[in-house]
Amino acid sequence: MGGFAWVTLATNDSYSLGALVLAHSLKQSATNHQLAVLVTPGVTKSMRVKLGSVFDVVQEVNILDSKDESNLRLLKRPELGVTFTKLHCWRLTQFEKCVFLDADTLVLKNCDELFERDEFSAAPDVGWPDCFNSGVFVYRPSVETYDKLVQFALEKGSFDGGDQGLLNLYFNDWAHKDISKHLPFIYNMCSTACYSYLPAFKQYGSNVKIVHFISSTKPWLQYFDTESRQVQPAGDMHHLKSVLQCWWDIFCSLIHPNLT
Ligand code: UDP
Ligand code: MN
Repeated sequence: MGGFAWVTLATNDSYSLGALVLAHSLKQSATNHQLAVLVTPGVTKSMRVKLGSVFDVVQEVNILDSKDESNLRLLKRPELGVTFTKLHCWRLTQFEKCVFLDADTLVLKNCDELFERDEFSAAPDVGWPDCFNSGVFVYRPSVETYDKLVQFALEKGSFDGGDQGLLNLYFNDWAHKDISKHLPFIYNMCSTACYSYLPAFKQYGSNVKIVHFISSTKPWLQYFDTESRQVQPAGDMHHLKSVLQCWWDIFCSLIHPNLT
């Protein structure tokens, strides 16, 4: 087999809504590549049917838990244990190369050029830019790499209890070795950047191709006025109103009507 695919992950129905909006945004970007979603038993049957209407592949996988409760507690994000499930993306060996996208990302412009990059390419993390953010990355499916990652996870764990800490330890030469594996920030613009560096956001924001709604800035958690059909983002998030509105426009026009 071969070919390229965009891959995401959902362990429950709320993240599945994110995955559905993401898939529609990829289609609107006129991508030439296939769409795949990894789901766990927590995703309902009816939601899988909906995912199947947009994604070419809906693949069930098991939850891998980091079993690192203390670290997870430190992070105050106990739910991140499930992000170890991301490792299953390496098992999609029917594809030659893939780009993984978190379900809380939204594609604003065609990004098919990402498939010209090699494993392991990712953009810097806003909190510690010598680490990459694991919400968007280019990789090559391989059962061998999957086995090595799981082995590594069991032996070394993850310094933040989630997949990002693990992947940064595994691909530990990313910061220094090969600049071509550093994706520009416009491929993974973390939503908090809009207020942590507002002048840069004002200068370069229109170039953004993929926006990533990290931590508690999830689009589905924003206030949405059903009368005016306008999202009303809280606090500093109002800088991102137009992209949040894009997310909600897709949700209202293409997803919500088919949910019942
Ligand atoms: N995820 C999921 N269910 C969860 C938590 C996470 O399916 O309960 C998946 C989903 O694809 C999500 C990714 O794992 O986008 C990473 O988690 P999240 O985006 O919440 O982390 P953040 O980007 O905020 O660090
Ligand atoms: Mn995310």
